[in-house]
This record gives sequence, C-alpha cells and structure tokens, in this order.
Amino acid sequence: MTMEAPVVLWFRRDLRLRDHAALLEAAKHSKHLLALYVLDDRLLKPAGSPRVAFLLNSLRELDNALSGRLMVRCGNPVREVVAAAREIRAAAVHVSADTAPYGRTRDEAVAEALAEHRIQWVPTGSPYAVTPGRVTKPDGTPYRVFTPFYRAWAQHGWPRPADTDVSIVDWVKPSSSVSLPESPSVDCALPPAGEEAALSVWHEFLSDGIADYAAERDRPDHSGTTRLSPYLRWGAIHPRTMLADLDSSEGAQALRSELCWREFHADVLWNRPETARRNYDRRFDGMRYDTGKTAQEMFARWCEGRTGYPIVDAGMRQLLAEGWMHNRVRMVVASFLVKDLHLPWWWGARHFMQHLVDGDLASNQLNWQWVAGSGTDAAPYFRIFNPTTQGQKFDPQGDYVRRYVPELRGVAGKAVHVLKERPEAYPEPIVDHAEERQVALQRYGAITGS
Ligand code: FAD
Repeated sequence: MTMEAPVVLWFRRDLRLRDHAALLEAAKHSKHLLALYVLDDRLLKPAGSPRVAFLLNSLRELDNALSGRLMVRCGNPVREVVAAAREIRAAAVHVSADTAPYGRTRDEAVAEALAEHRIQWVPTGSPYAVTPGRVTKPDGTPYRVFTPFYRAWAQHGWPRPADTDVSIVDWVKPSSSVSLPESPSVDCALPPAGEEAALSVWHEFLSDGIADYAAERDRPDHSGTTRLSPYLRWGAIHPRTMLADLDSSEGAQALRSELCWREFHADVLWNRPETARRNYDRRFDGMRYDTGKTAQEMFARWCEGRTGYPIVDAGMRQLLAEGWMHNRVRMVVASFLVKDLHLPWWWGARHFMQHLVDGDLASNQLNWQWVAGSGTDAAPYFRIFNPTTQGQKFDPQGDYVRRYVPELRGVAGKAVHVLKERPEAYPEPIVDHAEERQVALQRYGAITGS
C-alpha cells in the first residue's frame, strides 16, 4: 500500500529511470519521491576531467528526464543526505547498494546518521546483475578464478528487468538544490550521456554488432564492441537490461562472459577491498619494480604514447583522444608498462583512472593486477605480450595505428608494426622487447620460485 510520507531516492551509480530496482522499491512505499544526487569531492577529486565531465553530462540528462526535479547538493554525503531527507520529512532513503570500498564505508555512516533521525535506509539492488558477495563456492568462500565463478554466477541467475512505471511517481520539487556545475572542458571527445543514449547504443549494437562480436571484439581497428562501459560505469544502463536481450548465439555468449568479468572483479573487490591498492597475491609485494628517475622518464613516454612501439603508442593516444581504449590494447599497453618497462602496475592504473571515462575501481585495478600477474589468475606471468606481434595479429592492416599516430600515416599496410625506416618525428623504441622480456621473467621467477 502506498503511504503519503515522501521518500528520498539517492542516485549514485544508477543514473537512469528504467530497470531500476531501488526506484521501484521506493515507489512501492510512497508516490512522492525526492531525486537526490550529492557531488562528493572524495569521489570527484581523483576522477580526472573526462569522467567528471561525463558524470555531469549524465546528471543533466537525468535532470531533464525528471523535468528539472533532480536535487543536487555538494559536500559530505552524511550531512547532505540527512539534510535533504529532513527537509522533506522523508520516511526513508532508498539506494542501489554501492559495493566498492569507499561507498560501503560512506553508506554505513549515512545509514547510521539517518537512524538517529528515525529515517529508514533501504538498499535495493546494485549496479550488478548479481550483487557482489552473493556468488560463493559451496563451502561459502569466494571464488578466486574466473571460469568457476562464471558457471556459478550463470547458475545463480538474476531477476528479469524491473519494469518501472515512473508516470505514477510524483517527483518532489527540490527547494534547495544547487545548480549543476558546468562540465570541465576536456580535450577528448566524450560520448553522448544519459539513459536514452545508452539504450540507443545498445539497440544499435544488438542489430549491427552482436552477431560478429565473438570474432570482432579483439579488433581495435574495427568498432566491434558495445562501447557501453561509460554508461555501465554510471548506471545509465543496467547489465540486467543487457543480459535479458542475450540469447545463446556465439556473440551473445561472448558478451555475457565479458559482462561477467565486470561482476567477477566487483566480487573480488567486495571480498578483498584492500586489492584496490595492494596486490591480490601478496607474494608480489616483494616484486622488484623500477621507480627511479629513468623509470619516471619512461613512464612519461608511455603516458604520452611515445614509446616507439606503434600499437602501444596508438593505444595511449586513443586514451588521451577519447577517454577510452580498446580492451585488447589496454592489455597490450599494461603488459608493456609492467613487463617491458618494469614499472609498478599502480602507476599505470592511476593514469588510466585519470583519463578513462569508464574508469571503475574494481575493473581497472583488478584488470591491471591480472595483467601484472599479481591478480586472480593462476599462472599469468608467462603472458608477456610481444607488442609487435600483438599489433600484427589484431591490427593486421595497421589502420588502428595510423588513426592515432599521425607520424605513421605515411607508412602503408601492416609495415606500420615493423618499421624498417622510421619517420623522423616518430621515436626509436625506448627498450628492446626481447631483452626486457628476459628481465621480466627473471624478476617474476624470483617471486614465483620458477
Ligand atoms: P565490450 O567488449 O562491449 O564489453 C561489454 C562490457 O563488458 C563492458 O562495457 C564492460 O562493462 C564489461 N567488460 C568487458 N571486458 C571486461 C573486462 N576485461 N573486465 C571487466 N569488465 C569487462 N573496464 C571498465 O569498465 N573500467 C575500467 O576502468 C577498466 N580498466 C581496465 C584496465 C585494464 C588494464 C584492462 C586490461 C581492462 C580494463 N577494463 C575496464 C575492461 C575493458 O577493457 C573495458 O570494459 C572495455 O574495453 C570497455 O569497452 P566496451 O564497453 O566496448 O566493451
């Protein structure tokens, strides 16, 4: 039965109105809902301009969808959420659970502060099909390896998308909202923000991309992936919406597995919050990385995309140009940083988090660790990507490299990956891959005893 006391729906990583379990739950309790977003410096400061700009654009879209009724507040969520709830005499604050380390601590503090004012705290759903922590081994312990997690996750299943009829909701007009700040100007091209944009990208992919996804997803020179990661990051689309549209075709199965990687990493971070900063495999605390002046110069060259390895440079420049990088190339550039330059994985992870529009703590830190060998995989230190053969295999005509490295536009075809003559403006390789591979194997051997 619907009560008349208003409730707050505090948006965080769920910036949409469709398939929104917490919204549905809130609407069961009251038809008077206050839509709230809190701009929190603790999250905004480390985010980097592209992600902040995309967030602000997404909030503007959400506000439009709410006919201008999104209340925006700035500051400490403990203070701001309680103040917003008290202002409208709310009976409850509804949220989608945030399962990342900072979000969990923050939510505990907010729930406690609300309880002091007898305001209920109601988490429903999460940004995942299966909320992290729910998929466990039969003995109740968390999975450490992807494939068995995937099987258990698929077996666990998830509810059908929730059909939210938002027309029954009377969105409370906010009395004390601040205006959304202008989005910071960014050098990279941002995708259009918001739920409508996310759904249209998804529907287009379902008609044009899914059939070839299994084969095309590894080709950075083609647009063979969904490019939905920024929307998933902010919850403009829920993975459950996507999973409900997937059948048993090869492309659909491949995409289901990729979506599960996102859930796996969130589950690992939920179980081991310290892995956002520290090695999942603690043996790697003893790993020898280079950190001196030369290492810092190498790092600067990697960040700028001036390593002299075309596929690596193309990837790093795609990151700067678009706030996004193709997954295959993320693996190649990460491997290059850790195994060719011998730099700490967290240097690279931090650079990614500053530039990625889809930058997500769980996916980023744990993918970095997966590449570095300190993560969840069993024997990954053999996986030292050869940047030249990776380029030849996954960018066979060299189109991807030429798109992002203008100095190489005069080099035709696949020759761009094995430059016989280097254009003057393009740097010599900063290291010799074959030599550095040996160094990496030695250093890894010292850790793993092999
Ligand atoms: P698609 O191929 O269309 O996949 C669909 C969705 O599945 C993605 O949007 C994403 O949500 C999920 N997904 C796909 N691959 C992975 C994966 N390996 N791990 C986790 N989720 C996955 N992804 C992020 O969303 N944020 C990050 O900060 C991030 N950092 C990464 C860092 C490194 C070093 C590496 C190797 C990968 C990282 N990824 C990250 C995973 C992956 O590269 C991106 O999710 C993917 O490239 C996004 O493009 P897409 O939406 O077109 O992917």
